[in-house]
Parts: sequence; C-alpha cells; structure tokens
Amino acid sequence: MDDVLLETAGVKRVGRPTNPSMKPVQCQDCSTVNVMGSQFCYRCGRSLTGEGLTKMERMKRDDYENPDELIAFLQEFRKERESKRS
Ligand SMILES: [Zn+2]
Repeated sequence: MDDVLLETAGVKRVGRPTNPSMKPVQCQDCSTVNVMGSQFCYRCGRSLTGEGLTKMERMKRDDYENPDELIAFLQEFRKERESKRS
C-alpha cells in the first residue's frame, strides 16, 4: 500500500533499476529543491523534467500558434465542470 502511494507520487519506482542521475531537482522558476525523481515542482507545479509538461503548460506555450486547440481545450474543460456540477 505504501509502495503504491510512493510510486504514484513519483517518489519510488518499483521494479525499476535506480537511475544514477536521479538527484534532488531544483525548480527553474521558484528555486525550490524537490525530492529526486520529481516530475513537477511541489511548490509552483512547474514541470521539472522538461518532458512531462502539463496540458496547461503546453497550451500556454502554443497559445498563439494553435488558438483552435486552446479553444477546444477550454470548451472541454467547461463541459467537464458543468457535468460535475449537475
Ligand atoms: Zn517551482
């Protein structure tokens, strides 16, 4: 049970060899030092890996290049909120 929780939090990788490059990661935005293996800053939520960008982050970046995608995402988001409310 605890292992599952830790793995979900990205702290522990069960059944995988330890990555020697794993070390505390410092956030580029707020300089918070996160535990090794963290994918996101626990303080500001910024992606620490550069790969695992959240959808929101990608949207911000692509804002002007893909306005259609942004609008579709916002509509989807609003639909989801409305369906939860009812
Ligand atoms: Zn941060």
